Amino acid sequence: MKYRISFILLILTASLPVRAQLQIKPPPAQGFERRIRKYIDTLSIIDTHEHLVGPEMLADGFFLDFSLLLLQNGYDDLISAGMPDTLYDKLFNEELQPSAKWEIVEPWWQNSFNTSFNRIILYGIRHFYGIDDLNASTVGPLSEKIRKAYETNWFDRILLDSCRIKYLIKDGNHMPGRDVYVKYEKRFDDWLLLRSKFGIDSLAIQQLDPIYSIDDLEKSLTLAFEKELKKGMIAVKVFTSYYRTLNFEKVDKESAKKVFRSLVNGDMDFRMEMKDAKPLQDYLFHHLMSLALKYDMPVAIHTGLQAGKGKIIDDSNPEHLTNLFALYPGIDFVLYHGSFPYGGELSALAKNYRNVYIDMNWAWAVSPTYTRHHLNLWLEMVPVNRLIAFGGDAMAVENVYSELILARNIISDVLSEKVREGYYSEDEAKKIGKMIFHDNAARLYKLE
Ligand SMILES: [Zn+2]
Repeated sequence: MKYRISFILLILTASLPVRAQLQIKPPPAQGFERRIRKYIDTLSIIDTHEHLVGPEMLADGFFLDFSLLLLQNGYDDLISAGMPDTLYDKLFNEELQPSAKWEIVEPWWQNSFNTSFNRIILYGIRHFYGIDDLNASTVGPLSEKIRKAYETNWFDRILLDSCRIKYLIKDGNHMPGRDVYVKYEKRFDDWLLLRSKFGIDSLAIQQLDPIYSIDDLEKSLTLAFEKELKKGMIAVKVFTSYYRTLNFEKVDKESAKKVFRSLVNGDMDFRMEMKDAKPLQDYLFHHLMSLALKYDMPVAIHTGLQAGKGKIIDDSNPEHLTNLFALYPGIDFVLYHGSFPYGGELSALAKNYRNVYIDMNWAWAVSPTYTRHHLNLWLEMVPVNRLIAFGGDAMAVENVYSELILARNIISDVLSEKVREGYYSEDEAKKIGKMIFHDNAARLYKLE
């Protein structure tokens, strides 16, 4: 008898709709998934982070073939699969037939075709070039199609028409001729990673102004910052977690001076250990923050997984930044890449500090599953005005497109699921979509 009751209960619960959340809204009208998806597809996008190689530069290089699509992400996974680093120049900096390049790549592709980075490449070649797989017989025709495409206005067409990107933020520098839609963010690594006399002299030479004291050094950073402001910089980018910890202590000037003195008194080829140069670097970082505050510049920070290999993941843990959030309530800090794998820490930080933004750029490519899971979490925990959905972090426009489709798929799915459960209404889901793909970044970077 006992067995029969639990069996009936099991059948009953199995037939009820899954309801993981509070049901606040009435059941949605039929077809809501399709309508949400369609709405997401029509949104204008603010793409917050790219490293795109422009067509002008491509024409001068040796990778206007299938290897273009491997730049950065795909290449990193070939390396992760065991390809020797020494083959980089052969692949990207020498004149080599596509078939010869494929001979180099193939064994490592066979070990890494499974990853998200590489599935993005496969999606792109199918969508844009009608080619189903990457292999010895397809790399030739694919390369020919890529070369032909770039003889047209392909680059702008993919971004503006296929992706519906309204503004794009490029890491590093502006793209002449594209200022209408390409903005840029600037790194000040020459100061934040300073650890040699050579580094100080290079800064002095660049600015045609000698650096004799720490005050001169600060002044050189101020000048560089103000120069970029005039050129149109819209955010500061902090990239240092590739090389050192994100922990920027508030150091006194005397400790920074001490490091400065040992650098200027050192030999030309003397390079201080990163940890020993930290007081000077930290001091300059806080000077950079005072400039960001003065000129109302958002500060975008690389957090989580670093591209490439052999990095120290803990250096990029966003928890190390906590003191900054408290110290500079007037600065908007944008934490990039969903801080993979520190999504939980990121959730707590963004909930606690109202000057912290979560930007999911690149996280779609790193791990769609991670991003899907954490988007659920962030929607439940963090005010939606501080969530930003998209940036491809890519070098080729084809990969931006594929990653954007991936982001749209996941965001539509997550929102639809929450509408199905009655957690959000259909209209609320659409509103969230527009805020995270467009409105929040437009407001933050003053793009309208
Ligand atoms: Zn990047």
